[in-house]
Amino acid sequence: MPEGDTIFRTARSMGRALTGKPVTVFRSTYPLLTRSNDDTPIAGQFVERVEARGKWLLIHFSGGGTLITHMLMSGSWHIYRHGERWQQPRTNMRIVIENSDFVTVGFRVPVAEMHTAQSLMRDRRIPNPAMDVLSPEFNAEEAIRRVAVLGNEEIADVLLHQEVLAGVGNVFKSEICFVTGLNPFCRVSALTQEQVRAAIAAAQKLVGANVLVDSGDTIVTYGGRQRRTTHESDPSASLWVYGRNGEPCRKCGERVRRRIQGPDARVTFWCQRCQPMPDGSDVDG
Ligand SMILES: [Zn+2]
Repeated sequence: MPEGDTIFRTARSMGRALTGKPVTVFRSTYPLLTRSNDDTPIAGQFVERVEARGKWLLIHFSGGGTLITHMLMSGSWHIYRHGERWQQPRTNMRIVIENSDFVTVGFRVPVAEMHTAQSLMRDRRIPNPAMDVLSPEFNAEEAIRRVAVLGNEEIADVLLHQEVLAGVGNVFKSEICFVTGLNPFCRVSALTQEQVRAAIAAAQKLVGANVLVDSGDTIVTYGGRQRRTTHESDPSASLWVYGRNGEPCRKCGERVRRRIQGPDARVTFWCQRCQPMPDGSDVDG
């Protein structure tokens, strides 16, 4: 599943490609989108804004409609110049939005709906910007309170709840726990408020830093970048613990551990020495 920083970058690149020019072509293989486009054609409208909300990408059109897409595991948006060869087969195409300069293609985007401002506000799946670690409107104090009420859950699982903290994906989950010294399997009730505060600050910092490494005006197509939470340039060495099972911890040399965690069976990496449980118990990995 794409991480919040990936969706954010996709939104920014799509925004650069699409805003300020009239849409010349809109088409989709989804009957509901086609019907909506027949009733209120998108062609001729402007894209006012492209926005990331958690793992949702929102494209706001000047006619008042908003196209929302969620990539789940399989979907991606690509940006091409006219005539440029697509990197996926045409059969994977679900949505095409064109203007005079660019062709943006949603490949295998499994969720795509057209909304009004009202239906968007009512849709509880779309996180409020105040919950999104990448939003300027992010409210850390509210986020601390939302984490604190989930006392029985393990901190790494809680970091993944989009209705608690939008924008943190599975890679960042492990990295945030490592840089704050928190054991990912520790229940929230065993953490101090300062520890929760530190985890949320680390989420903002790490996810935010990955958005900033983007280079100027370059259009970035979804999915091709390495996430970086250390300062090394070798991509295979760009993370603290994620994907490093059995390798030495970058801080203490202990073996990095790996374990499946939570109701969704997501993989977690950690260093037991740098991230001890508060009661000193061991977690097998
Ligand atoms: Zn360590």
